[in-house]
Amino acid sequence: MEKLLIKGGRVVDPSSSTDAVLDVLVEGNKIVLIGKDIEGEGFQVVDAGGKLVFPGLVDMHVHLREPGQEHKETIESGTRSAAAGGFTTIACMPNTDPVIDTPAMVEYIKLKAEKAGYVKVKPVAAITKGLKGEELSPIGELVQYGAVAFSDDGRPVMNSRVMRRAMEYSSMWDVPIISHCEDTDLSGDGHMNEGEMSTVLGMRGIPAIAEEVMVARDIAIARFTGARVHIAHVSTAGSVELVRRAKAEGVRVTAEATPHHFSLTDRDVDGYSTNTKVNPPLRTYEDVEAVKQGLRDGTIDAIATDHAPHHRDDKEVEYAVAAFGISGLETALSLAVTNLLNSGILTPIQLAERMSTAPARILGIEAGCLKEGGTADITVIDPDIEYVVDVNAFKSKGKNSPFDGMSVRGKAVYTIVDGIIKNI
Ligand SMILES: [Zn+2]
Repeated sequence: MEKLLIKGGRVVDPSSSTDAVLDVLVEGNKIVLIGKDIEGEGFQVVDAGGKLVFPGLVDMHVHLREPGQEHKETIESGTRSAAAGGFTTIACMPNTDPVIDTPAMVEYIKLKAEKAGYVKVKPVAAITKGLKGEELSPIGELVQYGAVAFSDDGRPVMNSRVMRRAMEYSSMWDVPIISHCEDTDLSGDGHMNEGEMSTVLGMRGIPAIAEEVMVARDIAIARFTGARVHIAHVSTAGSVELVRRAKAEGVRVTAEATPHHFSLTDRDVDGYSTNTKVNPPLRTYEDVEAVKQGLRDGTIDAIATDHAPHHRDDKEVEYAVAAFGISGLETALSLAVTNLLNSGILTPIQLAERMSTAPARILGIEAGCLKEGGTADITVIDPDIEYVVDVNAFKSKGKNSPFDGMSVRGKAVYTIVDGIIKNI
């Protein structure tokens, strides 16, 4: 059996409140020992001195594009990108073609991901058939085949009666509904955040309330049904406050924020780079500060990329007609280290919680901890390494990143899945 000794790293495990310099011994696909100064022979030794040893990172919001848009990304390229970014498990969204709304499609994704062999992939299935917002998918059956959550992400479930039924069914299996909160009557055909900048740039805006009224609605439906709702890509100060109050009240709501929503503002749209076009849009400085505060106090449970790779043809066009989305798997960790860890907003243990333990818990999957006898999914991070983001070096087919050329700190040096190093 292969043996791997991760030596002298700062081992951070939120599930056991561990934050100490320790060695981690891996045999086969299991962690067999965590302790001080582990000795022995026949190991492959990973020198983790000065590095952070985290439970493998979990990204609960990824668009893999396959099947249907393989020119943008494939399960192979997307999972390779995930490994490069330090993720050992990702959950993929169902807005593919065909949509993931049948057991056969859930099986297809699982098989393709296993064949690619980079990281673990957990399918999120559609709330409604064909993402049409009308008829519910066979939720119970999809859970049995391995769907870990339900979402029509990319679009909202506008019909409140359908959302009520979805939450009633999902609560029978205790799986979360992941809500893309957008009132499309309010967002209309806006291209960026509605505010001073959209006026200056002469672009139609998407108001904060387009998100907030739906966050409020879904919290109300979750309160009424007792179901679990997870708010995807929280982007406004108002949404953070709604989630904070609902949690205090005991509503079963969780939330995620993306690296771009805690790293950029609508001022970055100046220059009209279509790589800043994303849904929900980049918001104001005050919103970014509120999202950071939400991540700090735990109102926002998880960091998720909303990795949305696009082909050049979808982005090298006028801002108004460009596709929404950012290729995010390979910059997420660096942005979190640079903008949250190094600036003291999150401690290492909080960062591991937001990027691993919490998303695993929300999805109800076995991941997000480092323990003896547990699966050896581990991410070794160099928090000090400084580099310039180069989209041409991305493993993802999607080169659409507003961070290209930006100097950042922190990178996954080893992504270990089932005891095997996957990012080299
Ligand atoms: Zn979305």
